Amino acid sequence: MLFDSHCHLHFRQFDNDREEIINRLKEADIKVINVGTDFRESEKAVELSKKYPDFIWASVGLHPNDNLKESFSAKGGPASGWRENDRICVGAILCNRPN
Ligand SMILES: [Zn+2]
Repeated sequence: MLFDSHCHLHFRQFDNDREEIINRLKEADIKVINVGTDFRESEKAVELSKKYPDFIWASVGLHPNDNLKESFSAKGGPASGWRENDRICVGAILCNRPN
């Protein structure tokens, strides 16, 4: 088994062939962490992990190069609902954000 720790299978660039890619991943026994880059994309990553719980996990986060307007909070907002999903991790939450 292989594990890809950084994918974006939920991105719209894969809308036309996402299922085909996922089938190839299954056949090759490759598991992945699907990484969100903002709240909306993180929600999509979580949804995909729920659809394929055997081999897709989700990382929620805010990519520092793409998103300086949103901030991460585990106490409220969109991030709070993700706590119910025990299959997620957190990444790129702007800990290294410049002041
Ligand atoms: Zn990435």
